[in-house]
Amino acid sequence: MIFLFVWGKRPIEIPVGFVADFCFVCRKIAPFCVNRVSMVPHFWFIPVGKGRLLRHTKTCHSCWSTSDCERSRFFRIDRPFDNDLERLIATTFPTIREVYAERLALEECVAADSDALEREVRRKLLMEPFRMAAPHYEHGVGVRGLHLLIIALKPLHPRETEIRECLTHFRKSGARIGRRLRTAEIMKRLYEDTVERAPGSYDY
Ligand SMILES: [Zn+2]
Repeated sequence: MIFLFVWGKRPIEIPVGFVADFCFVCRKIAPFCVNRVSMVPHFWFIPVGKGRLLRHTKTCHSCWSTSDCERSRFFRIDRPFDNDLERLIATTFPTIREVYAERLALEECVAADSDALEREVRRKLLMEPFRMAAPHYEHGVGVRGLHLLIIALKPLHPRETEIRECLTHFRKSGARIGRRLRTAEIMKRLYEDTVERAPGSYDY
């Protein structure tokens, strides 16, 4: 008789609570779900123990963008989230408005009139969403990246020439986002408003 044992290790992501942080896709302070990512031994695909901590990640509750989470930046991780953002700020990141004062002021300018921004500031703000979306094209098909790109670009009301300029930058550097995305596709998505997003992912 032959006995076959299936065992090994695999990364497992477990939600551990919520924090408030600034979301660069939503362009505002938002609730984030914090996940503990661990390498966990499994036997017949059933996890055994808590495993070795690899990192924490955080996922925005509005746009679902995920990024690494520096645990020490937060006073604590709260749970559960009761849709009261101000309470979440007070318990997890009470100094958030001071820490992000400059960025929050900049976002007020974007909301008021993004065309009035200094040329170089506007160029940096336009490039930022492409940098956030780029890894989705390097490590996947990019659908998620395009979704986030459109949400983050919309408040800037970009012109076709500006989008082309950003894509040219990535094409020249050899990044896949530059080869896979077309200016016309982005313009179509930006001005047709076909992106599905959670209500309130941005307020302007
Ligand atoms: Zn977000």
